[in-house]
Amino acid sequence: MPPLPGLRRYLISLTCLGSLSAVVVLVQAEGLATLLTGGGIGVPLVVAIAARVLLVGGQGVFTGRFTASVKAGLRRRLLGSDAERAGVVATRITKGVDVTDSYLTGYLPALVTSALVPVAVLVRLFATDLASALIVAVTVPLVPVFAALIGLHTKSRTERQWGLLSRLGGHFLDVVRGLGTLKVFGRAGAQERTVREMAAAHTDATLRTLRVAFLSALVLELVATLSVALVAVPIGFRLLEGGVTAHTAMLVLVLAPEAYLPLRAAGTKFHAAAEGLAALRDVLAVPIRSPRTGTRMRRRGAPEIVLERVTVHYGEHRALSEVDLSVRPGEHVALIGPSGSGKSTLLAVLLGFVTPTSGRVLIDGVDLRELDQADWLADVAWVPQRPTLFRGSVEENITLGRETDVATAAKAAALDQVVAGLPEGYRTRIGELGEGLSSGQRQRIGLARALARTDTGLLLLDEPTARLDHRTEAAVLSATRRMLGGRTVVLVAHRPAMTELATRVIEVHAGGLRERELT
Ligand code: ADP
Ligand code: MG
Repeated sequence: MPPLPGLRRYLISLTCLGSLSAVVVLVQAEGLATLLTGGGIGVPLVVAIAARVLLVGGQGVFTGRFTASVKAGLRRRLLGSDAERAGVVATRITKGVDVTDSYLTGYLPALVTSALVPVAVLVRLFATDLASALIVAVTVPLVPVFAALIGLHTKSRTERQWGLLSRLGGHFLDVVRGLGTLKVFGRAGAQERTVREMAAAHTDATLRTLRVAFLSALVLELVATLSVALVAVPIGFRLLEGGVTAHTAMLVLVLAPEAYLPLRAAGTKFHAAAEGLAALRDVLAVPIRSPRTGTRMRRRGAPEIVLERVTVHYGEHRALSEVDLSVRPGEHVALIGPSGSGKSTLLAVLLGFVTPTSGRVLIDGVDLRELDQADWLADVAWVPQRPTLFRGSVEENITLGRETDVATAAKAAALDQVVAGLPEGYRTRIGELGEGLSSGQRQRIGLARALARTDTGLLLLDEPTARLDHRTEAAVLSATRRMLGGRTVVLVAHRPAMTELATRVIEVHAGGLRERELT
């Protein structure tokens, strides 16, 4: 597990706060003993009480801030992780990061305090009254011992429970996504049963954990209360016999519970924190894509692209082998070839989404790896094979927050007729799966999104009209043609009609390229 950023500073600060509270506890007990034996309210007592209030409040603010920043960092990290199942990622980013609260703001501070305050109290007791100090010294360790015994029993349980919750999230999303298909094939009932069973298992696991948590709280309270009684009874008798002064007896009585209090607090927070710790381990163990480190900026405008012996592997599978390609600025290249031949992979390499296993990509003579990724992507418009839509209006899905001419782009993508049929036009809200839209309509939104970016030097089109009928395709192609001037274009053509946009046609076959004569 990689270390949590800033954890050391946090622990050091908590230790300082804990030491301060230990001092304050001692001063306060001294003052209370004086007050209760008729000595009157002293200034130290008032100061100690005020300081205790401030310390508790200050610690709350401090731990809250630290946890908020840690959580933001974890979420950012998770967003950059290699996505596996979306549902698992979603559970991690929301619930997974939230439950770390219980560990970071609840358990850790309590743990630090429980290591410092009892020691300070014990030292003070040994200096005051040996017999009471010995009783406390023997009984205080009982609290963590009992807590550890119960904890051992529940650790595996909470970890299992967290795993169960992640799986449930992943499964649920998959099922909901595929509900339409499942319904058609009459399998919806079986899935409903699975989800119901998993939810029931999760409920059971939660209740079992809660039961143990309540039981352990009871045990810890009992141990602490009995221990205090063990100190209080003999001290009472000795006070009657005149063995100790009233002030000493009071001091011991006020101090003894303070030795158990932080341990009890840590014990009760332990169970909630166990889930938080399990989640934290899980979140930190997620592999993170190494960030691209390029920093070079380039001048905007149609780029020259050169691929030199570019090979791409997906695990064992080789998708591109030693590809050489040179595209002049402003040239329009069409890639053709059977499905699975590596056309989309080539575009992904140009975008920088896929890093070649060997070989290099030169943009205007500069290695793509040396370019600042955000700066490079700002000059690329891309129509992916399956555009990703976001929850929001049609308009927001086209502009992606930029200032663009939505109407013109939509018209070029033949989206205007589609939008005219929507209940609220461009303001119609769509979900991230494009609910209520056909795959052709979704593709047109993706096309409009790319065409709206008229200012980019490079345009990448991946089968942009694959889901359109011939008439719409013809309209889209003639509108698109008008937007290509002065830009470098690489398009994946799945139909001959599209190659008409190109000045050069290249055939991709099993990861290799072959130039085709233009007919
Ligand atoms: P095309 O776009 O020409 O249909 P792709 O470039 O999408 O082909 O894919 C080329 C080959 O690489 C295919 O065999 C495909 O199965 C494989 N492939 C594509 N993307 C991935 C990926 N993310 N992980 C593993 N294999 C992939
Ligand atoms: Mg493809």
